[in-house]
Amino acid sequence: MILALAGGVGGAKLAHGLARVLSPSELVIAVNTGDDFQHLDYFICPDLDSVLYKLAGINDTERGWGIRDETWNFMESLKQIGGEDWFLLGDKDLETHIERTRRLSEGQTLSEVTRALSGNHGVMHTIVPMTDHRVGTIVDTKEGDFFFQDYFVRLRCEPAFTGVHYKGMEKATPSPALKEALTHSDLKVIIICPSNPFVSIDPILNVPGIGDALAKTRVPIVAVSPIIDGQAVKGPAAKMMRELGLPVSPIGIAQHYGDLITGLVIDEQDRDLSNKITQLGTKVHVAPTLMKTPEDEKQLALESLRFAEALAKQHA
Ligand code: GDP
Ligand code: CA
Repeated sequence: MILALAGGVGGAKLAHGLARVLSPSELVIAVNTGDDFQHLDYFICPDLDSVLYKLAGINDTERGWGIRDETWNFMESLKQIGGEDWFLLGDKDLETHIERTRRLSEGQTLSEVTRALSGNHGVMHTIVPMTDHRVGTIVDTKEGDFFFQDYFVRLRCEPAFTGVHYKGMEKATPSPALKEALTHSDLKVIIICPSNPFVSIDPILNVPGIGDALAKTRVPIVAVSPIIDGQAVKGPAAKMMRELGLPVSPIGIAQHYGDLITGLVIDEQDRDLSNKITQLGTKVHVAPTLMKTPEDEKQLALESLRFAEALAKQHA
């Protein structure tokens, strides 16, 4: 069994690749919920939705988020009556939030709701939230602390990033399926998808119990670098690294994850950094890591799994 840790769009691409080469019983995808928030009375889980839509094959590839062939009648009407329009909700996307909110208010856990929504979309692979508790990632910046969506959407990530902290994390526990996966006797590999390390992966690692379980696990933990040739493929990861004083390269990713990871998959364009990363104590595998097509996603999934298998053999 393989456990993948994922944020939204970057994570979803590799998760999709993994889902194409692994059967539903062989893969658990645990997703960040630190970005979740309540908006217009709906409970919105941006990263879970990105992974769900991607695996369901209904994601919009041009916009990069949400559902393809989306319509915006709700948003336009809302705007006309002077409603809150800073967060875009497509008509189809809205159905997910309405159904999720209804189920949660009936007392279902987020894990149960996510399983139901996956089923409704014909997704057979297991997508689970990192926790069923409500936690919120708060972004610390030189201009103060902001709720994630506020920083990300309203402030367009402009204030200089200094770190994150979490609301509600002390009381959180890993979701049942994530907890089970971490201690499963058949667990072979943990893959950290090329998601934003600070606001997508770190929240998962900070759920009480996860860090310890990962430190104790005997299986290889392989991360895929979200940084290629000094840049993030999308989003603020590179800006955040710069503002934290980390090298904006896979070296900075290796430094950030430190001893947690056994190996790092880096892009061919960063091949000359291999030795430096190895010197940091992290094994390196070089592969094409830019995923533009489903075939790229599948190939990167296979490369990551083969690398992890080789590491597992060295471990043993
Ligand atoms: P978000 O929650 O939607 O922002 O998504 P994630 O945190 O999962 O993904 C954002 C990260 O994915 C960014 O840092 C990107 O650099 C990275 N990313 C996106 N597409 C790719 C890709 O094709 N290859 C790699 N290596 N990284 C990617
Ligand atoms: Ca996210």
